[in-house]
Amino acid sequence: MLLDKDIEKVLFSQEEIDTKIKEIAEQINKEYQGKEVILVGILKGSFAFMSKLIEYIDLYCSIDFIVCSSYVGTKSTGLIHIDSDMKVNAEGKDVILIEDIVDTGLTVSAIKDVVTKRGASSVKIASLLHKPCNNKYHVVPDWYAFEIGNEFVVGFGLDYNQLYRNLPYIGVLKPDIYTKQNN
Ligand code: 5GP
Repeated sequence: MLLDKDIEKVLFSQEEIDTKIKEIAEQINKEYQGKEVILVGILKGSFAFMSKLIEYIDLYCSIDFIVCSSYVGTKSTGLIHIDSDMKVNAEGKDVILIEDIVDTGLTVSAIKDVVTKRGASSVKIASLLHKPCNNKYHVVPDWYAFEIGNEFVVGFGLDYNQLYRNLPYIGVLKPDIYTKQNN
């Protein structure tokens, strides 16, 4: 692939990601058996995780999205902005927020608060990745595929300045990619 040359190391292969996502879906299927759920993807980063996850979800579910942003480059701004809100009414519903990565936990905790205040009967979090070392908001996803250390990763939906989301695996960029783009 054209983008492979920018990757220093592959952390999780396409096959490993697929296996873990299937396991998460099976746990969700079991927990919500007989119920209807709303799956809310937090865009943009969650689109790849969400589309793979729903292939294995065996429940009546509606799909919705919240578009929000908290990152510029590789640094968190400490603020989240809802650029586009979900359209389905969450009142009295079981909601699962789908996130690409829980880093400080700011994004999911802010969105969980918003959806809870709208009267959802439950709000849980499924995240592809969990980065516990920065977890200022003490959010532990209810389900996550992989835990990672203090590194900036790309691929499978995760970007660096809007690029690399289309990598089918998760990896770490070569340092010169940041220096090249920051100069
Ligand atoms: P949080 O609000 O939990 O601090 O950060 C969540 C958002 O930050 C994620 O949805 C993601 O967009 C971005 N983010 C955090 N860590 C990384 C990372 O290692 N790589 C990429 N590409 N984005 C990250």
